[in-house]
Amino acid sequence: MDYFNYKGKNLYAEEVPVSRIAKEVGTPVYIYSKRTLNRHLAAYGDAFASVPHLICYSVKANSNLSVLSTFVKGGSGFDIVSGGELFRALKAGGDPKKIVFSGVGKRDDEIEYALNAGILLFNVESGDELRAINRIAKRLKKKAPVSIRINPDVDPKTHPYISTGLKKNKFGIETKEAFKEYINAKAKLKNIELLGVDCHIGSQLTEIGPFVDAVRKIKRFIKRLRKEGIDIKYLDLGGGLGIRYDTEEPPHPTEYAEAIIEETKGLDVTLIFEPGRSMAGNAGILVTSVTYTKKGSKKNFVIVDAAMNDLTRPALYGAYHAIEPVRMPPVSSGGELVKADIVGPICETGDFLGQDIRIPPVKNGDLLAVKSAGAYGFTMASNYNSRPRSAEVMADGKEFKIIRKREEYKDLIRGEKIVK
Ligand SMILES: *Cc1c(COP(=O)(O)O)cnc(C)c1O
Repeated sequence: MDYFNYKGKNLYAEEVPVSRIAKEVGTPVYIYSKRTLNRHLAAYGDAFASVPHLICYSVKANSNLSVLSTFVKGGSGFDIVSGGELFRALKAGGDPKKIVFSGVGKRDDEIEYALNAGILLFNVESGDELRAINRIAKRLKKKAPVSIRINPDVDPKTHPYISTGLKKNKFGIETKEAFKEYINAKAKLKNIELLGVDCHIGSQLTEIGPFVDAVRKIKRFIKRLRKEGIDIKYLDLGGGLGIRYDTEEPPHPTEYAEAIIEETKGLDVTLIFEPGRSMAGNAGILVTSVTYTKKGSKKNFVIVDAAMNDLTRPALYGAYHAIEPVRMPPVSSGGELVKADIVGPICETGDFLGQDIRIPPVKNGDLLAVKSAGAYGFTMASNYNSRPRSAEVMADGKEFKIIRKREEYKDLIRGEKIVK
């Protein structure tokens, strides 16, 4: 559910006409809906209300400070994967006691930063990392709270680039090895506090089965750890719930919660979730203007002012995003649709936002909305082809605010130097 809807022929972000935002802010522009963000957070909160739990929104999906602060106000914690994300989370008012730190390659300085900030848990992905955290915590005279990320070897049945819970993936530690790491850490790593077990099996999952399979395996694992006197208090199930981009029918957080609550009954843990896409994905659109149209002998092209540097998912994963006109054509046009590739101006064949998309005929200056662009949209944007990154806007009821200025040319060369 989101709050980007047509009223008559015009697309609105909540109560604000999208065309008004485009006129005042220019294009390309990311537009988020605050009400949608709040609704998604509440959906998780309500679904898990009956059990001890913590929602740690995955910052990498959309890390704009206003998005983060909206979630802070709704009681959310954060899942971070870098020192930079910790910086953002704290700037947005995030409570360090609700922050978990994931990722396979945490550097010493990032570990130190997180220890000093007093985060809730490190999600540790290797024995090497565990020893690094112990060493740094010892130097700082602290105890580092830790979960080890288990690789439960379940197939999330998603795109290979976003599946993470198989043995062949770089993430987590296989159960057998992980067990040894817990035992060894308990005996030898005096500055580690073993508090949790973590997993994250992939992204854009559209079935509950793989989550349940993972929980079953981890449940047994937690029981074994407890027999060894390791008192696990947290079970972190990561993120990964899918959203509807096209015709997918991902489970609602309520269905997901029912299955998880049933499966973890009597386990006596606080559940942690790290949703990213399902919180922010459908809470954002990318609005772009048509620059030119071009008819090839095989294909029609609509050349727009947004490109793969603004929204990388189509180029990177061949991901589908629905693309719709911001203003529907008049009924008198007969409702005829044309098939076209929606492409950007970047010098790469992979620079498309959509291929063989059916849209009403468009012309120079028309606005298109790329849907479901709130997650892994702006956060994956770059300056490739020296394109300033787009503005970001938050719609809130009848109002909207710019929450990130459009970059200017001078931003492109910040920190650069011409050497003699
Ligand atoms: C990316 C990521 C998430 C969020 O995944 P979504 O599919 O966006 O919900 C959560 N946890 C970890 C460890 C991640 O890497």
